[in-house]
Amino acid sequence: MEYKYNAIVLNKIDTGETDRVYVVYTREAGRILARAIGVKKPNAKLAGNLESITQCEIFLAKGKGRGNVTGVIGVENFLAIKQNIEALEKVFGAMKIFNRLMTQEEKDEKTFQLLLDYLSAMNEVAGKTEGDFLKFDIYTLGFIFKLLQNLGYKQEVKKCAVCVGKLISGENYFSAQRGGIICAVCAKLEIRKIRVTDEAVKFIRIVLDNKIENLGKVKLEKKSLNNLKIIVQEAVRWITN
Ligand SMILES: [Zn+2]
Repeated sequence: MEYKYNAIVLNKIDTGETDRVYVVYTREAGRILARAIGVKKPNAKLAGNLESITQCEIFLAKGKGRGNVTGVIGVENFLAIKQNIEALEKVFGAMKIFNRLMTQEEKDEKTFQLLLDYLSAMNEVAGKTEGDFLKFDIYTLGFIFKLLQNLGYKQEVKKCAVCVGKLISGENYFSAQRGGIICAVCAKLEIRKIRVTDEAVKFIRIVLDNKIENLGKVKLEKKSLNNLKIIVQEAVRWITN
């Protein structure tokens, strides 16, 4: 049987002299592995559309186990990202986290769309003459917080994640284990916690209530930006360990 998937290529693994296995995230089945026979031969036609960070339609002949690629049609190659070293670096970082979190073959159209929205937003900014480093960071952080939300790890940012009390400006912490922001009183009982700026808390609220493409106008101080990067790392580390 031959199957067609709408896919985004995440990664490739060299498996033999001329073959490769591609890790792709599909609208129809989530993360799957696709084997491309002879793809490393000099005249192979499939390789171009199977570069990492490319959206394509991929055809797989499938019996048992992973399928063999029989054809690929390129849809969007996100060229602006690939030509912008800062954007590319951010996207590779995000893909690394995505790969760590998404290990199962499981259909999740919302996450497929989120990934597509993220890459489209990054591509648009990367294509503008100057690029905008802050926007790269904002879209990337937004993508990861929303991804966690999709996977059932929505961070509590509206009230204390432990006592459900009101959060008081300037006194809050983040706890990955508690799943969000905690108040100063509850923080006293937590060993692992990160001091969090009010702006960072506000940013996560905005992210969880908005689509990625609407985050372009958000502003962030450097201090909050660095704060959020540490929070994201801590959240992912806790979930994947
Ligand atoms: Zn509390």
